[in-house]
Amino acid sequence: MEQFALYLYVLAIALFILSLRWMSEVRTSRRGNIAGVFGMAIAITGTLIAYHSERYDLLIGAFAIGAIIGVPIALKLPMSAVPQRTAMSHAFGSLSIALVGVGEYLVRIPGISIFDSAVLSVEIIIGFLTFTGSCIAFAKLQGLIPGKPWIYPGRVFVTLATLVISFGLAIYLVINPDQTFIIPIMAAFALIFGFLMVMSIGGADMPTVIAILNAYAGLSAAALGFVLDNKVLIVAGALDGASGLILAIVMSKAMNRSFLNVLFGGVGAIPSGGGDGKGAAKSAQSYAVEDVATVLENASSVVVVPGYGMAVAQAQYVVKELADILQGKGVDIKYAVHPVAGRMPGHMNVLLAEAEVSYDQLWEMERINSIFPETDVSIVVGANDVTNPAARTDPESPLYGMPILDTDKSRTVVFIKRSTAVGFAGVDNELFYMPNTMMVFGDAKQVLTELVATLKG
Ligand code: NDP
Repeated sequence: MEQFALYLYVLAIALFILSLRWMSEVRTSRRGNIAGVFGMAIAITGTLIAYHSERYDLLIGAFAIGAIIGVPIALKLPMSAVPQRTAMSHAFGSLSIALVGVGEYLVRIPGISIFDSAVLSVEIIIGFLTFTGSCIAFAKLQGLIPGKPWIYPGRVFVTLATLVISFGLAIYLVINPDQTFIIPIMAAFALIFGFLMVMSIGGADMPTVIAILNAYAGLSAAALGFVLDNKVLIVAGALDGASGLILAIVMSKAMNRSFLNVLFGGVGAIPSGGGDGKGAAKSAQSYAVEDVATVLENASSVVVVPGYGMAVAQAQYVVKELADILQGKGVDIKYAVHPVAGRMPGHMNVLLAEAEVSYDQLWEMERINSIFPETDVSIVVGANDVTNPAARTDPESPLYGMPILDTDKSRTVVFIKRSTAVGFAGVDNELFYMPNTMMVFGDAKQVLTELVATLKG
């Protein structure tokens, strides 16, 4: 029977690898998702076969509670809240890994080996720090606490000290494995470290942090897999850890930041004299939908720049409808996709795919930026930070150095959002006040629906 469980594990691992492969391309991502779901179901079945339980009642109870909470969340959750939900998955996943780690440690004493003690200690630390880090990421994404980094004198020292103390206690525990009173203290310092680390990261760097937390959750699962000698946990954890790390590297590159800069740079703090209030004295030119319709009637090339506001307004379908109308009039349409637009990697791709926008109309930042100077109209739909020219021009700006979509270089910019409010990074956008910008204030879906009606009329 246990041999059979191993075969199931091999099948599950193959499905996990295929799942990652397929999910790396928009065209095959649905297949990748399904492969991942089946892989996980097979891995759980294999585990139930391999590890005999005397308390199936507890297992069934836990499964039922998880399903009762999880299924409605999965079915009812709006797309715009998926990033927060992902942060909570990391939080609960890592908490359970940390708690299982503590349980395993206690079961194995006296007589725990140095290897098990060391690996479990590291796993417990990573699990707990990922838990609080992910909870703070959730709170920031949900807007429960401000996205701005928490900056105070000696911040880097205090944050690092909690991690060093936590690992110092782990070393003590490995030397004195029976002194289990150390475990809650070690866990407490790890919890504080996770909290401080993510509190001090702001605005535009959150995507990288979420990818790093993803990698941590995978690493701690892999470590637990070694101790439990569970092959599928080792492989799944390693895949999760490695893909999270690769994503974090890709994100850092896209944001033009180094890892250390993300973790300790306090990026996103509003420097005195910069940021928020800057635009208060300036006035943005507000236009009516009819003005935009006139401009579009005369355009031959249009680039749509979607952002988080499109997700909030669920405006992707009407964006596609507008694009189809313009295309029908002979206008060349492209969509500019910034790697961190929205609130999760690939957020815009998912939404645009949902609205059945053709893949070959999606242009990545590097490719589209050279096209903007020859573009007649850029329509910014609820994007903000990813279009902010201060990232290129203002060394004082917290966004400085982050590659952006050079929307400002197009002949006319139509900016659709509800106000001149800041985006996730909390900084004012010079683009609102530029002479070639037409601000159209309102909910993206509503404005675009009116625009479509006007163009049809
Ligand atoms: P921003 O967060 O910069 O701006 C979104 C804008 O959308 C807001 O300024 C808001 O303005 C507008 N908006 C909100 N609701 C609506 C609506 N119903 N209709 C019209 N507009 C609306 O978004 P971007 O996509 O430009 O940038 C993403 C930001 O999020 C970056 O800073 C990125 O680093 C960060 N981030 C990205 C993650 C990722 O993985 N992609 C993860 C975590 C953070 P107003 O209120 O005036 O309408």
